[in-house]
Amino acid sequence: MQLNVQTLVVVDIYVLMLVGLLMLHAWRRGRREATLGYLAAALLLGGLGTLLGSLRNLGIDWLPILVGNVVLHVSAALSWVALRVFAGRRVHWPEVAAGGALWALLCLWPTFYESQALRIQVYSLIAVTYTGLGAFELWRSRRQLEVDVRPALVLLLGHAGFYCARAVLDHDMPFDMVSTGSSFFSLLVLETMLFSIGIAFVTLAMVKERAELRYKSAAMRDPLTGIGNRRAFIDAAERLLADCVRLRRPAVLLLCDLDHFKRLNDHFGHAAGDQALADFGRILASRTRQQDICARIGGEEFVCLLAEADHGVALALAERIRQEFAELPFATGGQLSVSIGIATAEQAGYDLTRLLSLADQALYAAKAAGRNRVEAYRPDSR
Ligand code: GH3
Ligand code: MG
Ligand code: MG
Repeated sequence: MQLNVQTLVVVDIYVLMLVGLLMLHAWRRGRREATLGYLAAALLLGGLGTLLGSLRNLGIDWLPILVGNVVLHVSAALSWVALRVFAGRRVHWPEVAAGGALWALLCLWPTFYESQALRIQVYSLIAVTYTGLGAFELWRSRRQLEVDVRPALVLLLGHAGFYCARAVLDHDMPFDMVSTGSSFFSLLVLETMLFSIGIAFVTLAMVKERAELRYKSAAMRDPLTGIGNRRAFIDAAERLLADCVRLRRPAVLLLCDLDHFKRLNDHFGHAAGDQALADFGRILASRTRQQDICARIGGEEFVCLLAEADHGVALALAERIRQEFAELPFATGGQLSVSIGIATAEQAGYDLTRLLSLADQALYAAKAAGRNRVEAYRPDSR
């Protein structure tokens, strides 16, 4: 296959600049996600470095060899930074500058400056290092990131593999912009182009996927207490009850309602009320296990569906929560208390609406009996 180097280089510069500008646009239009900003800078510098690198045969070799390659190393470093920032880590600027600085220093050494083979090997080594670092950032954070990092890893490893091959195979390939014949250099230009498009695409997809996950999670969370809201509760509780039926496991619902909350708001102000709500949410979250589902389902109403818990365990837990809340030192000197109604999934036939209704009847009984207490549903308690 004959690949015209000249045409390829022009297309490469065009593609890098275009994808870089599109990335810049995505960064500006979105929530200024730093990952996209760094990637845009990497792509634009990649275009500039390639342009400078193509200025051979002009008699000013230091421009392509020194400046062009330094710009390309900074570009590769910024691609690593983009992934590092995506993984939630800080930028290490000395390491970003290290590749370019090493290259500039080596260019002061005539043996290096004049040996294309040596330059190709060092260039490849730096490229493999930055690409490998980018892959490492994604790999070590793959669990926390919650998005699929595999396409990006495949691309990065492929890119690193290509540069390993280049270090071994591309020994003294003349960079000849006048020649129309194909060479390893043609492959290099082609690979750079495909990798740039690929990495831009997968990074954009990862950023978008994570933003969607965050929006979804925010829509399911109560901002005041940090625990789930009604919607999150219904979704998760339906699933949990279905599992309990299938696996023949028990479950118990606690329905909690803060006592005389309106009075507390009236006497101490809305901010004090909010603080009490946040405190109760914290107690609920800290007293329950990962598999239990806690949520704030109304103004001062909370629920907790306990997985694999029997009546006795639920009663003891509810009592502990009630007590802890009542003993909480309330900043403004007021008295806090909560009433809790309990019903088992078995009593409700594993139906969530009925379970909520039975727990509500038990809660009503707790309120009627003087508040600050726990009541379990009994069929005769109406
Ligand atoms: P009871 O003991 O019978 O439950 O009485 P209560 O006053 O707690 O119940 P009621 O339903 O009459 O009042 C609930 C109050 O909760 C009314 C409302 O102003 C307050 N509230 C609801 N949401 C919030 C909130 O987000 N922050 C604050 N501070 N108050 C809230
Ligand atoms: Mg209420
Ligand atoms: Mg209340």
